[in-house]
Amino acid sequence: MPELQFNPVALPYAQDALAPVISADTVAFHYGKHLQTYINNLNAALPGSGLEGRSLEDIVRIAEGGLFNNAGQVLNHTLYFLQFKPAGNPGAPKGALAKAIDRDFGSLEAFKAEFEKKGAGLFGSGWVWLSEDPQGHLVITQEPNAGNPVRRGNKPLLTFDVWEHAYYLDYQNRRPAHLSALWEIVDWDVVASRL
Ligand code: MN
Repeated sequence: MPELQFNPVALPYAQDALAPVISADTVAFHYGKHLQTYINNLNAALPGSGLEGRSLEDIVRIAEGGLFNNAGQVLNHTLYFLQFKPAGNPGAPKGALAKAIDRDFGSLEAFKAEFEKKGAGLFGSGWVWLSEDPQGHLVITQEPNAGNPVRRGNKPLLTFDVWEHAYYLDYQNRRPAHLSALWEIVDWDVVASRL
C-alpha cells in the first residue's frame, strides 16, 4: 500500500492541556476528527491532480476547488494547533515580533482588539489571520472558508479558527468570548519563529 502523502501534525501538548480555554473534547473532535477528515480528503484528491509531491504550501497557493479547500484546511489547522501551549502561563510577543506589532498596530492591546473584532465580524466560517506582506508589514485579514494568506503572497504568522466546530462545544454561539480567551494559550515564540 502506498504511503499517504500527508499526516496530522503531532500535538506539542496533551489533549487536555489547553483547558479551560479549549476543552479536551473540542481538541478530540477538532484535531482527531475534523483535521483527520481534511487530511483523508486531501490524500484522496491528490493522485491525478498534477500536484502530487508538491509541498502543502505550494498546493494551497495553486490548487482550486475541493483540492484547495482540503489542502487549505490541512495547512490552516497545522499552523493553528502548533501555535498553542498549555493554559495557565500566558505570554507576550518579544523581540522583532513585538516591535513589528507596535509599529503596525500601535500596541499589543490594539492589535488584539482589532484581531478579535475581525474574527468576530467574519460572516460564516473562516479564519482571521496575522500575516506579513511582501513589503514586511504585518496585516490582519479575514479569510473565508479554507483561506490562507499564502494565497495573497503573505507569510502566515497567527490564526484563530472561527468555524463553529472550533468553539461550539465550549462556548456555544459566543464566538467573541472564545476569541478573547485564546490569547492565554498563544505560544508567541512559535508565532515569532514564523516571521
Ligand atoms: Mn477548524
